[in-house]
Amino acid sequence: MSRVLHVAHLYPVEMNIYGDTGNRIVLTKRLEWRGTDVKVSLVGIGDELPNDSDIVLGGGAQDAVQSAVEADLARKASKLARLAEEGAVMLMVCGMYQLLGRRFVTADGQDIKGMGILPIETLASHDRMIGNTAYQTPWGTVVGYENHSGKTFLDDQSLAWGKVIKGAGNNGADQLEGCLYHNIFGTYSHGPVLSKNPHFADELISRALIRKYGKSNLKSLDDTVELAAAKTALARSR
Ligand code: GLN
Repeated sequence: MSRVLHVAHLYPVEMNIYGDTGNRIVLTKRLEWRGTDVKVSLVGIGDELPNDSDIVLGGGAQDAVQSAVEADLARKASKLARLAEEGAVMLMVCGMYQLLGRRFVTADGQDIKGMGILPIETLASHDRMIGNTAYQTPWGTVVGYENHSGKTFLDDQSLAWGKVIKGAGNNGADQLEGCLYHNIFGTYSHGPVLSKNPHFADELISRALIRKYGKSNLKSLDDTVELAAAKTALARSR
């Protein structure tokens, strides 16, 4: 029986800076190369989030766009929370990472309400944290690129999945990056992050396959090009 995963991409038009849509392409290709079919749903403002989503993706955006999706996100919050509790795999980058938390207070004092699914809170600062990043993680060194003013604080620091090697990470202070809660991966890494971090991409894929089919059985792929790109990115200055 052939396997199929349903990938839902939240706000692919509105929330897509620094190539975050590439994460969808990377996951789709890495699944197809292993013979798994992929169904993709693009979920914009006013669209229904599919109940059978196996992987949900979200990207980053400017503060004004985060504010523009706030009301729509509130309508989607209960379904997203249910999917999260049921173990659906999610990758939420920067702006969407912030919005999965309780709130994001912007530099001009606007309080954007988040969904309260991740136990985090984000407060904007007047410093913008920009540049290449590298984190030590259970899936090896993850390289990326960050650009945010928001500083994210985790209620429980043990939920961070990365230790900062280069960059600011969650807030520039505690040397931590991201949040892993249920199967939701929040991160400040753009890039798109999965293109240069194939082991991280496969961690998401494995979790989704195990949840749906009980096992992942991923055959290895030739990641020569992806790993060369990661090496080049790692050698770059901040
Ligand atoms: N607007 C948010 C911030 O500056 C998120 C930015 C982003 O998604 N890159 O913190």
